[in-house]
Amino acid sequence: MEEASKQLGKFGEDAKVLAGGHSLIPLMRLRLAQPTALVDINGIKELDHIKEDGSKLRIGALTRHVTLQNSNVVKDKLPLLAEVAGEVGDNQVRNMGTIGGVVAHADAAGDYPTIALMLDAEIVTNRRTIAAKDFFTDIFTTPLEADEIVTEVVFPVANGPHKYIKFRRRLFDWAIVGAAAQKMNGGWRIGLTNVGSTPVRAKAVEEALQKGAKPEEAAQHASDGLDPAGDLRASPEYKKHLARVLTKRAINQAEGRQ
Ligand SMILES: Cc1cc2nc3c(=O)[nH]c(=O)nc-3n(C[C@H](O)[C@H](O)[C@H](O)COP(=O)(O)OP(=O)(O)OC[C@H]3O[C@@H](n4cnc5c(N)ncnc54)[C@H](O)[C@@H]3O)c2cc1C
Repeated sequence: MEEASKQLGKFGEDAKVLAGGHSLIPLMRLRLAQPTALVDINGIKELDHIKEDGSKLRIGALTRHVTLQNSNVVKDKLPLLAEVAGEVGDNQVRNMGTIGGVVAHADAAGDYPTIALMLDAEIVTNRRTIAAKDFFTDIFTTPLEADEIVTEVVFPVANGPHKYIKFRRRLFDWAIVGAAAQKMNGGWRIGLTNVGSTPVRAKAVEEALQKGAKPEEAAQHASDGLDPAGDLRASPEYKKHLARVLTKRAINQAEGRQ
């Protein structure tokens, strides 16, 4: 870790951490990223772990999607995370991509940032701990310094009813919109993917559910305050519609209804 951080410091903004390479290498091929130095962290074995820590689950930054998907500890302590990991990309992406890479990359369509935000996870680096709500500040933007390395993502244990629904055109696509529901400490946590420049926690939905609204009523609030960008696959209005529909489905399916 020390050596990696030192190398990053030496090259400053021109250097990039290389983890699974499944976002960085495509960006380099497109010349959208042109680092002069890559610091490969794959040999830092202490970054590859899943640890139970009381009411928390500590996931090392180098943990691959496939490991999260298949981990019995994750399935037991935070099954929503295992479910989400199984929805990331295809086998190749899941074999190489890492949770640290997804959070550091902060793509608005990334799946874990939504779960981290809605569950009040913490992003730990070689220097500090940052609450997820302060970490995803804009699209592809985080408070990470050039020589800072994400070491862990720390989630609370939550093994009640849960569901993540990713709406996409083809099986392995990124989410056009995603919605997550997790029952926790007697209330609901609701998160949305790709409806803004950062992940979104749908607090209006959570509050409506808390006051006793039915899922279909509460889910109407999923698009409150959203201002998503349109893209080739969906207009802003369609994304807002999806946010409402998918939120209703996620809550219902979490509770075993269709
Ligand atoms: C075809 C395809 C489909 C995909 N579908 C999805 C999807 O549906 N959902 C989804 O969430 N993702 C998807 N991805 C992205 C995939 O999950 C990537 O693995 C992930 O975005 C980046 O993780 P990585 O380990 O590959 O990071 P890298 O590509 O190595 O790095 C990505 C960025 O994060 C930085 N970085 C990486 N690790 C650290 C660290 N520990 N500390 C500080 N900075 C770090 C790098 O410097 C770089 O800027 C897809 C990718 C492909 C190629």
